[in-house]
Amino acid sequence: MIVFDLQCADGGHVFEAWFGSSADYEEQRERGLVSCPLCGSEKVSKAVMAPAVGAKGNRQSGQGGQKAVAVSNDTPDPAQMKAMLETLAREQAKALEKSDYVGDGFASEARAMHDGEIDERPIHGQTSLEDARALVEDGIPVAPLPLPIRPPKSDN
Ligand SMILES: [Zn+2]
Repeated sequence: MIVFDLQCADGGHVFEAWFGSSADYEEQRERGLVSCPLCGSEKVSKAVMAPAVGAKGNRQSGQGGQKAVAVSNDTPDPAQMKAMLETLAREQAKALEKSDYVGDGFASEARAMHDGEIDERPIHGQTSLEDARALVEDGIPVAPLPLPIRPPKSDN
């Protein structure tokens, strides 16, 4: 036994109907035996809402083009990804507002600050992975930015 949520094309009525199998449904529908109990329309099709199946273990999967409505959260859709990146970019830009862009001088600036040669201030810029690692090893906090930055002005 299988339960389908059906919908008539004429009135948009959604109703439930029971069939022996998915094939039975197809056959009865083709013969015009399936009609809307509310308006009598024979133009019925499976409603998009719920893939209702009768008893457990009676799933007629893959039969008769049964429409399974599956919403997967495994992969965010492109629009969601874009929104996420935009939020991230906005947050990063905000965080960098009070930070000085020092370009390639990042490692030496950070080290000079750490050594007390210059006043500490938030900075950001470019550095090589080796330099960054050396800074961390010397106890100088550095963190990679989540997104690549564009230098504000490249005068050199
Ligand atoms: Zn109807």
